Amino acid sequence: MDDYYPNLSPIRNGLACKCPRCGGGKLFSGYLTVRETCEVCGLDLRGHDSGDGPAVFIIFILGFLVVPMALWVEMTYMPPLWLHAVVWGPVIIGL
Ligand SMILES: [Zn+2]
Repeated sequence: MDDYYPNLSPIRNGLACKCPRCGGGKLFSGYLTVRETCEVCGLDLRGHDSGDGPAVFIIFILGFLVVPMALWVEMTYMPPLWLHAVVWGPVIIGL
């Protein structure tokens, strides 16, 4: 079976959202919904469901970006708290 499927980079396939075995089929059927099987090679993909992992990863990245910016704005301009709520909510959703 290893001779039949090409030796593909799992990182490249993951970034392209393709099947980890054949690199041809799509990994997701929705925005974050993993397909049950690969449409090309039939690989069972149910074990690749990451659950809430991607959401937590995004939350950490946004936290590292937004919190220093909010602290810098607070230390530099000292705006009222309502302005922080108005500004940073849309910034977080936009990012
Ligand atoms: Zn496949």
